[in-house]
Order: sequence, then C-alpha cells, then structure tokens
Amino acid sequence: MANESGAATNGSGRPYSGFNGQYISGAWRPGKQGGIREDTDPYSGDTLAETVLANVDDLDEAYRSAAKAQIGWAALLPSERAAVMLRSAAIMEARRQEIIGWLIRESGSTRFKAELEWQFLHSITLEAASFPHRAEGRILPIDETGKESRAYRQPLGVIGVISPWNFPMYLSHRSIGPALALGNGVVVKPAEDTPVTGGLLIARIYEEAGLPPGLLNVVIGDVKEIGDAFTLHPIPRLISFTGSTKVGRHIGQLAMSGPQMKRVALELGGNAPCVILDDADVEHAVRATVIGRYLHQGQICMSTNRIIVDAKVYDEFVDRFTAHVKGLKYGNPSDPAVAIGPVINKKQLAAHLAHIEGARAAGARQVVGGDPEGQVLPPHVFVDVTNDMQVAQDEMFGPIAPIIKVDGEAEALRVANDTQYGLSSAVFTRDQERGVRFALGVHAGMTHVNDHSVDDTSTGPFGGEKNSGIGRFGGEWILHEFTRDHWITVQHSRPAYPF
Ligand code: NAD
Repeated sequence: MANESGAATNGSGRPYSGFNGQYISGAWRPGKQGGIREDTDPYSGDTLAETVLANVDDLDEAYRSAAKAQIGWAALLPSERAAVMLRSAAIMEARRQEIIGWLIRESGSTRFKAELEWQFLHSITLEAASFPHRAEGRILPIDETGKESRAYRQPLGVIGVISPWNFPMYLSHRSIGPALALGNGVVVKPAEDTPVTGGLLIARIYEEAGLPPGLLNVVIGDVKEIGDAFTLHPIPRLISFTGSTKVGRHIGQLAMSGPQMKRVALELGGNAPCVILDDADVEHAVRATVIGRYLHQGQICMSTNRIIVDAKVYDEFVDRFTAHVKGLKYGNPSDPAVAIGPVINKKQLAAHLAHIEGARAAGARQVVGGDPEGQVLPPHVFVDVTNDMQVAQDEMFGPIAPIIKVDGEAEALRVANDTQYGLSSAVFTRDQERGVRFALGVHAGMTHVNDHSVDDTSTGPFGGEKNSGIGRFGGEWILHEFTRDHWITVQHSRPAYPF
C-alpha cells in the first residue's frame, strides 16, 4: 500500500521505506516549503532519502494536531497508554536489525555503537511504559482547619523535542517516549543529518503500534525557516532540547522571550575529564578510556575529552594507551571489527582538522595520527597537553585524545573542574571510596568510578551542570520534568474570614 505522497504504509512487517517528507496530523506528506534536502550515508556518500522540507505553516499544523490529539490521549486509561508503549517496544525488538542498519547507514555508527543505541532505545521505551501507572498525585498535610490539600500530577500538554545527530534515535526517543507515556502530545524536529533515525523511523514504529494519529508529529525543515518558530510557538509548554551549548542557550532565551513563556529541558555540550589517580589499575584504565574517547568517533556529549593522569603513572599510561590506540581498526562502520567509522559530515571533519593543527601549533606532541580517508579520521593522540590549550578547553566531538600530566589528586581535581562544562566525568583508583570522595568534588552531573565517562541508563538521573545544561532525564526525574503539579484545595468548612 502507498499513500498519496508515495510513502509505503506499514503494518506488514516489511522494512519501512518511503521516508521522503513529513509526518504531520497522522499523514505522511511532503513539506510546504518545497526545497529538498538529501540525507546521505556519511561513509559511502549514498543518498538514503530526499526530504521535501517543511515551512512554518507545517509546523503550526503539527503543533495544533498534537494539542488536539493530546486531550483524548491523556484521558485514556493508564493501561491503554502503557499498551501502546509496550507494543512499540515489541516492534523495536522485531525490527532490531532494521533499526541498527539505519543507524549504521545514516549516522555512521559502528555496529557496536548502533547495537548500544538500540539497547538504550529499547530500555527507555520499557521504562516509559511504566510511567502511566507511576504518575501519582499526593494528598498533603495542611495547617488550615477543614481544608484538604491535593497535588495532582498532570501532563504538560504538548512538548517540542529538538535532537542532535549523534545518537539520533535514542536522543529523540528519550524525550518522545516518556512524553507520550505521560499523556503529552509531541512535535519533534530531528537534526539535519538524521531525519529518519531522529524522527521518521520512530513515527513509523508508533504508527504501527497504534498511537492515535496526530499525537506525534515529525517536522523536518531548515533552521532558518522553522528553527526559532519551533520554540516561539504558543502551544508547546516545554522544549526538550539536546544539542550544543550555543544553540541551547539561544533556545533558553527564546523560551522566555516569546509571547508565551515555557519551560526548557536543556541537555548540552560536555568536556568530560577522565582522571587516572596514582593507585589506578592502569591497564583497566587504558581500556576503559579508549572506549570513552573513541566510541562513535568521539561524537558523544559524554565522550572523554581530557585524560588527566597522575605523574606517577603517566609514562606507563601513555605507553599502553598509545599502543592500544595504534591497534584500532578504522573504516567501514558496518564491519563489526571496525572501532572508528566516519564523522558525520564534512563540516565536522574540517573542525577536527583545525583542532589537530591548533594542538600542534600550541606545542602538544602528537604520538598517533593519520590523514583522513573520506570522512574517516584515524584516531589521534596528543601528549604533553596543558589544560589551557584549546584542544583541552573546547568540546572535541572527534577521535582526538589529549593527555594531561598532573601532580597529585588535588591538582587532578582542580584541572578536571577547570572547564565551562559539567556533564560526565570519570575517575580511576583501586580505592573505591577514594574514587567516590573524588567524584563528589567534581562539578558535574555524572561521575563514574572505575569506568569510562560514556554511560546512560533509563532509570538514573542523566544531566549536566554549568554550561552542560538544565534538567535531568531518566526514571522519576523525567517523569517529573514532563508533567506538572497542580495544587488543588477543597474547603470542607466555613472559615471565619476577617472581612
Ligand atoms: P546543534 O546544537 O548544532 O543542533 C542540535 C539541534 O538543534 C539540531 O536538530 C539543529 O537542527 C537544531 N537547531 C539549531 N539551531 C536551532 C534553532 N535556532 N532553533 C531550533 N533548533 C535549532 O548540535 P549538534 O551538532 O546536532 O549536536 C552536537 C552537540 O550536541 C554537542 O555539543 C553535544 O555535546 C551535544 N549533545 C548533548 C547531549 C546531552 O545529553 N547533553 C547529547 C548529545 C549531544
């Protein structure tokens, strides 16, 4: 079956196809702006889809549609909403290889990363399926005679989701899934490089799972056309943004400045320090740090951006780290043996090459490197880096590892905290409680003792401090973020008012 825009409909178990437009008001159709954007495989350069872009009228229709459908959706029984979430999870299971294939082709994920992203995606869907039965209100004590005080937990209404390209499906869905489960409508704007995995594929899954049409909408357009309008629109009550600090700051300002103030949840950039203390198990620290730095070519907000090593173990760490990195295979991301695939686009590649030049010019010593092959940048390692160098201070979204030598724990902590960011971090020591004490001193939302900095879970508080953002994902934290408390009192007596 095909609809009028030529998009294949689903429900047949066949691979999803026909990703050439928008998903608005329950219809698969081209956008009204009319321009076409090519969606390409960052490794092969093949065209995966051509999207006909949306304009502000499409965006307006999407928000109105979400608002209209939300009323009936929120009124359903919790078990009815949970059932849709569980069916979505089952479809994700049935289509696991199809989803992984899309993540490899569209976002340049290595097979390992794509499998990890699928796990995150599936896990948050199951967690979200529990939310309809966990969104509890409370009856509160109150110091007023004859009066009852209640806090009702209500959906927000409509939530706008803006997501990046690096973990596109998971980072869109960690907002979409909980938002829907809690009775909200959603409009999502995926990143330019990942319209399918960041939005359209998710919409297909929900369509097949029986989500009411119009509740979830995917709008794909130019930021110049629909970017600011997405946040300024009066319908969404919260904008859930995941992306760079620069754009997140702009979204936060817009959310306060429009005719209708709204909440924001901002998950922004990072510059994770990974600290190797003098009593660390160096071999374990090396293996973990290699993953923390090079997983998905370093294009993760939690990626280990700075490796900070105590002078007592510095030489041993550098020797082992360098030897390990030299053995990493890079190239075609669909090859299961490949650790490092392509970076997402030519602009990102140019930024990485500029950082490499900058590090050399600043006096950092390059011990591993190589020229790019297409969009595949071989792993780079710089030693003798100081924390004031740009290669240490900037968020480096590529396979480049700066190693910094420090003298003792106090200096390690000072250097770790000397950054505008505060998302993830890691510390290695054989003394676990020393690790926890150190972790408590790190100005970050997340610190992992004896593991690398890239971790996420559907049940824990995920989020950043400082310029890494505002808000928390996961478990009860996102449950509260995507609902509102409505305080309602009932006066059972007739108080003696003074006038
Ligand atoms: P980006 O900020 O350039 O883009 C993110 C999204 O914002 C995209 O969908 C983009 O189209 C959109 N956008 C840009 N300008 C906009 C505007 N004016 N109005 C509305 N939308 C707009 O980020 P990116 O390059 O896609 O992703 C990389 C960044 O994301 C890194 O800084 C990374 O650390 C961060 N990130 C953070 C987390 C987290 O959980 N904290 C997770 C992943 C990525």
